[in-house]
Amino acid sequence: MTTIIDGKQLAKKTNEQTKMEVQHLKEMGITPGLAVVIVGNDEASQRYVRNKNKTAQRLGINSKVIELADTITETELIDIVQQLNDDDAINGILVQDPLPTHIDERKITRKIKPEKDVDGFHPYNVGKLFLDDTTNYPVACTPKGIMTMLKEYNIDLLGKKAVVIGRSAIVGKPMAALLLNAGASITVLHRYTTDILEYTKTADVIVAATGTLHLLQAKSIKQGAVIIDVGQNIDETGHLVGDVDYDDVFDRAGYITPVPGGVGPMTIATLMQQTVELTKWGLNSGK
Ligand code: NAD
Repeated sequence: MTTIIDGKQLAKKTNEQTKMEVQHLKEMGITPGLAVVIVGNDEASQRYVRNKNKTAQRLGINSKVIELADTITETELIDIVQQLNDDDAINGILVQDPLPTHIDERKITRKIKPEKDVDGFHPYNVGKLFLDDTTNYPVACTPKGIMTMLKEYNIDLLGKKAVVIGRSAIVGKPMAALLLNAGASITVLHRYTTDILEYTKTADVIVAATGTLHLLQAKSIKQGAVIIDVGQNIDETGHLVGDVDYDDVFDRAGYITPVPGGVGPMTIATLMQQTVELTKWGLNSGK
């Protein structure tokens, strides 16, 4: 029987825990603060930012959205990031991508203080992740949320064959590092992989994060495999779907995340959770 990994339900549970932790911090006189910077009018980005802001406020986090015109210069944006770095009321800083082409996204990421890097994209934190560092550090929210899902469903990763499809800095690479740190054997596939089926057909766990419709069918996977679908695509009928042909794969999979209602809600819940973690880690470091 196939188990559906219910991201919506788990996100609800995670948010409830976060809300309680926020209340606890507030009783100590501390309110976690999240700053979300958005540049330009990209509709999808504005929707994401609205969702993040609404969720943060619902959980009692002090959420600040900074909307900037796409004519802003790189130097001006860096100044704003520096101000947020220096603002004691802000524990997490997120600069929503994409940024206009005249701004170097990597440069902006490097300007965020690693202790406030709520997206976990700063090279310092990525380095810690790849070293499996034992101190506290933020991790990219989508893969971190996926690890929460795997844990919640008691999916054992030790010695398992895991295939990550996609090698972006936001999803694929940190996902591979987290699975490797958890003791799985990892293969990372990407657009230049000549035969993805060669790898997916024997995998115990597959994380698909490519933005490619119909990437995986039942014939692409092993009986009982764990299928995590990160992809977000609009299909021929105008519906939001993942990279995996859900209906086709369903009976063959052991576990599967739906789209929508899988990885997506957990990404936002993890962002909120990590804002609170950054607040607590800051307190513990004596700052
Ligand atoms: P990206 O465009 O930065 O990276 C896509 C990766 O997929 C690349 O490494 C590319 O080489 C690989 N790829 C593309 N086509 C492929 C193919 N046919 N076969 C094998 N590999 C292929 O994208 P991203 O930011 O990593 O996002 C990937 C997908 O996940 C997108 O659909 C995005 O919308 C979605 N996403 C969802 C969430 C969420 O919370 N649900 C979060 C982030 C991204």
